[in-house]
Amino acid sequence: MLPIPLQKTFTYSVTEEEANFLQKGMRVAVSFGKSKMYTGLIFHIHQTAPTLYEAKEIHQILDEKPIVNELQLKHWQWIANYYMCALGDVYRASLPSAFLLESETIVYKNEAFVDESILADDEFLISEALQHQSQLTIHQIADILGRKKVMPIVNELIKKSVIYIKEEIYETYKPKLVKYIRLKECYKSDESLNALLEELSRAKKQRVAVLTFFQLATSKKPIKAKDLEKAANVSSTILKSLVAKDIFEFYQVQTDRINFKGDTNSLKELNEYQEKALSEIKTSFVEKDVTLLHGITSSGKTEVYTKLIQKVLDTGKQVLFLLPEIALTTQIITRLQYYFGNQISVFHSKYSMNERVEVWNNVLENKTKAQIILGARSSIFLPFSNLGLIVVDEEHETSYKQFEPTPRYNARDAAIVLAKMHNAKILLGSATPSLESYFNAQQKKYGFVELKRRFGNVQLPKIELIDIKEKHRKKEMKGHFSDRMLKLITEAIEEKEQVILFQNRRGFSPVVECKTCGISPQCPNCDVSLTYHKYKNELRCHYCNYQRAMPNSCGACGSNTLDTKGFGTEQIELELKEFFPDFKIGRMDLDTTRGKFGYQKIIGAFEAREIDILVGTQMLSKGLDFENVSLVGILNADSMLNFPDFRAHERAYDMMVQVSGRAGRSKKQGNVAIQTYNPYHQILQQVSTTNYTEMYKEQLQDRWQYNYPPYYRLIKITLKHRDFIKVDSGINWLFRALYNSFGEHVLGPTTPAVSRIRNLYIKNVVIKIPPKQSLVSTKKQLQKIKNTFEAVKEFRPIRFIIDVDAY
Ligand code: ADP
Ligand code: ZN
Ligand code: ZN
Repeated sequence: MLPIPLQKTFTYSVTEEEANFLQKGMRVAVSFGKSKMYTGLIFHIHQTAPTLYEAKEIHQILDEKPIVNELQLKHWQWIANYYMCALGDVYRASLPSAFLLESETIVYKNEAFVDESILADDEFLISEALQHQSQLTIHQIADILGRKKVMPIVNELIKKSVIYIKEEIYETYKPKLVKYIRLKECYKSDESLNALLEELSRAKKQRVAVLTFFQLATSKKPIKAKDLEKAANVSSTILKSLVAKDIFEFYQVQTDRINFKGDTNSLKELNEYQEKALSEIKTSFVEKDVTLLHGITSSGKTEVYTKLIQKVLDTGKQVLFLLPEIALTTQIITRLQYYFGNQISVFHSKYSMNERVEVWNNVLENKTKAQIILGARSSIFLPFSNLGLIVVDEEHETSYKQFEPTPRYNARDAAIVLAKMHNAKILLGSATPSLESYFNAQQKKYGFVELKRRFGNVQLPKIELIDIKEKHRKKEMKGHFSDRMLKLITEAIEEKEQVILFQNRRGFSPVVECKTCGISPQCPNCDVSLTYHKYKNELRCHYCNYQRAMPNSCGACGSNTLDTKGFGTEQIELELKEFFPDFKIGRMDLDTTRGKFGYQKIIGAFEAREIDILVGTQMLSKGLDFENVSLVGILNADSMLNFPDFRAHERAYDMMVQVSGRAGRSKKQGNVAIQTYNPYHQILQQVSTTNYTEMYKEQLQDRWQYNYPPYYRLIKITLKHRDFIKVDSGINWLFRALYNSFGEHVLGPTTPAVSRIRNLYIKNVVIKIPPKQSLVSTKKQLQKIKNTFEAVKEFRPIRFIIDVDAY
């Protein structure tokens, strides 16, 4: 299996001896194409020579033991089939990139070459660089020449016999080494030691270092060089000079990066409702592999999970705990480590490559510290060998779905399949289950358990809808805040309680518009207006990250009449600072949470009550548990409701109920205030009474009427290309071809709301698959049409993207 987007696996030849050594799931370096080297994965060892090509020999065996197991291979195949992507794509997505060796071309100087007069300027530069350095990578050549496209020059140099090329592979994973220090053998006797101290009597600092070393050595543990520096209060140069004098020596030990220090605690006692839910889940698991736990916010779902986890650990099996987003992990890690300590490993995309390799290896070797894996969606790819339980927390979350790049999988659904392969149980938990999961539970496909009371019998928050059309009319708005909202905030912070304010847009304002000519600055790469970020006085594109300084005057008509429209988190933060100068305002959105510990810092500060009012985007809605928050405000509910997507209403309901759930979690009843132009909207009414079942019934009715999931399935096809005409003719051809096969169940072609991103024009068609139509044969037919499409020469450069369950 090669880590490239090709459907097929390839056959390479090995000797009998190699064949006996090799096993499925080991890596080998192989060449493919003209001169490329790849890290192949052994998928099958057989004796059938390929008929269409001659099998090449493998280049190198890279593993002693398999690093991928058979269950994973089976799971990858399911993903490739179901989501209609290449197995090689799943392979590439699954392994930490350090496992996929890099192939870097290296050029060497041809010593026989002398006549430099035939070289052009750029060629001469390279030739000269090779006088000083025996070899260069293509990367370095690009640096020397200050440009990216250097292959033509390299080719010219090869033609002129100035250089030759070798393809080399090297492993990029580096275990973390820690430097230790020890005394040389000859100083271990008392006499030699006294002599040494005598000798060092004039080198005071060195003497202190040696004496401190002996103090530390009494503990009999190895001594880190860093620790000695600290304890003796000397610099690393002092230690180096002692090593140079042959008194000390350094040595290195490989350590793991992920460590937990501290004691663990026994699990909390469950209350009667949690106890009942737990026993219902256990009963449900007797018959059903999948169970949905619908527990309102703050009902104590996490504590119920811990009991189940403990039970599975006791049987010696592994547990996977899936979280929708890393924003959440810091709190859950702390909560679970409190009970399970060092048995937990964490796996997500903000971890470095090396950390991910370590977790992979720990899971592979079934180490104690990898008994519970806490991770975002990609942790379903880890080499589990005996999973007993998967918990999918906040199962309704969209971030379980990977939209880009391929494989476009939903981790919740892929986890259900994974659990089945391991004969493990899987628990889906949420206060606002997805319509699909709730439907499956109603159909008795999944087991179903409810937890309807908040822990400690705290009541659900009081939810108040504020009509801002009315407020505007009566001139009772101050900035983007109604007088009522300001009053509630003031009351809360004066009681020393905290406030969360939710605004689903980041930046200062999403649109800048000229009052004279009406034109808005647009992104040059995308078909979208630029968002104004005041702090840096910049305009930014939220689709491609393009940025430029905010102009003083309109680029179209030259007037100084640029005005901002709409508002984002940054503007709210600034308004609050003005209204509440004596209180601390914080902001949590994509712009303030970059970096590995970005979330942790803000969440930590809020927990420590260093922030009184926290403004944020939907990141704030995700299962966070703050005990001192008494008010949650939603500043503009309407933008969520008016979104062109068949799930918009369901999503708006989820989001509002989830953010509301952050209020009043521990002591008294909390407050929620929602500002809207449309207080009679049915979704807002359902939110204000937290009436999930009514929302469910109504939405399901719509889905039935308009043929959407869970009744019909959806496959979305997207075409992308720089040339609008090409995409347009491609999509029309495709639509006709699909229409011939599937008739009226093909929708489109449509142009998405942002019709061009990063200079690529985008068009969509959607295939709806009725319940009785076979999914497998639909996909087969679609694959056939795709193959024909790609055989048409003018369509070949168009990106053809298939997204199964594209929601
Ligand atoms: P959910 O995940 O359902 O929103 P949590 O599991 O976060 O709810 O629980 C809400 C709060 O109640 C947490 O602070 C948690 O520590 C506390 N809690 C829940 N169950 C118990 C229990 N059995 N004993 C003590 N505290 C509990
Ligand atoms: Zn852009
Ligand atoms: Zn203008």
